[in-house]
Amino acid sequence: MTPSTDLNIPLFERAKARIPGGVNSPVRAFRAVGGTPRFVQRAHGAYFWDANGQRFIDYIGSWGPMILGHGHPAVLDAVQKAAVDGFSFGAPTEREVELAEEIADLLPSIDMVRLVSSGTEAGMSAIRLARGATGRSRIIKFEGCYHGHADALLVKAGSGLATFGNPTSAGVPPEVVRHTLVLEYNNLAQLDEAFALHGADIAGLIIEPIAGNMNFVRASQPFIDRCRELCTRHGALFIADEVMTGFRVGLQCAQGLLNVKPDITVLGKVIGGGMPLAAFGGRRDVMEQLAPLGPVYQAGTLSGNPVATACGLATLREIRKPGFFTALAARTRALVDGLHSAAREAGVPFAADSEGGMFGFFLLDALPQNYPAVMQSNGAAFNTLFHGLLERGVYIAPALYEAGFVSAAHSEDDIGATVQAAREAFRLIGR
Ligand code: PMP
Repeated sequence: MTPSTDLNIPLFERAKARIPGGVNSPVRAFRAVGGTPRFVQRAHGAYFWDANGQRFIDYIGSWGPMILGHGHPAVLDAVQKAAVDGFSFGAPTEREVELAEEIADLLPSIDMVRLVSSGTEAGMSAIRLARGATGRSRIIKFEGCYHGHADALLVKAGSGLATFGNPTSAGVPPEVVRHTLVLEYNNLAQLDEAFALHGADIAGLIIEPIAGNMNFVRASQPFIDRCRELCTRHGALFIADEVMTGFRVGLQCAQGLLNVKPDITVLGKVIGGGMPLAAFGGRRDVMEQLAPLGPVYQAGTLSGNPVATACGLATLREIRKPGFFTALAARTRALVDGLHSAAREAGVPFAADSEGGMFGFFLLDALPQNYPAVMQSNGAAFNTLFHGLLERGVYIAPALYEAGFVSAAHSEDDIGATVQAAREAFRLIGR
């Protein structure tokens, strides 16, 4: 493809004239890796096709939601039927109840659920709920964890903010983040100190139990246990942000893997199956603080949307089928192992991890445990790898601070083709 025949280029020019940066969410813009974003025409299974009709093996899957791949027949059927019955009512529906029941059935920490439309809304509402329920203001978050773009949470967040090197965003008044305490991920001493100093003022602690916004970094077992223990001891609420990990790393989510029971869980992505749907849920006494029962206000015109709930329910019913996560985890592991051997052949440092259908890799000798260690990654080498893969029809996240996603539609052949492309792309770095 030469620049004169690449149809993504004029589309991006048109986009930039009318949409800031040409995209509706910053990481899509290829700012970190350079070049022109691929404009998606359509997607099916493990693939999407761009404006040139070129096919890509998709390891983003809408940044997590598409766990079944694109256009799964059961999901498509559910969405089409729901759309015929009406797009939005602003009045309750049975499917909202079913989805809430399904989520509560899968996660023992959740007694009640409130549905919203984005992870940002869910995270923001969880913080308000924690503050309202405890009557306290301070919250703890961890460096490199992203919880959506609500003001109070936009401090040392990962993902697009890591890419752009913003410690926080313009437009967030210092007073708004004054109550947000940012600690290093996996640092027990800092955690202990924060609670020793401020324990009585802390409304809640919010954490990605497996962080997916500084690539892929697991919270250690002692660290997550101490988070839970200190919240309990000091009367603060433990909030697990499982927008990315929820029903992606396993049916029991990251909280099940780590055997920890949050007071509030924030969900999104997979529970909507690709439609705008997210949720927060938790202990009954806490959730009953929400309007219309309690004093904490939260609302949404499109919350519990009937087409989105149909999509989410159909998705959850597929991933509940026996053996689903065993197969998905094995496929994801095969990808990660294949990438590892391709890197080794080319003499490129490489460390990777995966859980369920989520993975991360670093061009480093060992897996990092926190954000400063993630920042040691070799950006130039990653960019070479990214473009090497892209040219060979493999689409991974266009920034090294992002996790990757495998779907049930990715076949053994897709993994094999990806590893072959990686073998060639890693050689470009080795040179
Ligand atoms: N929390 C986490 C852990 C996320 O990964 C994201 C999005 N990547 C969000 C919150 C925000 O979700 P949304 O983009 O739907 O607002």
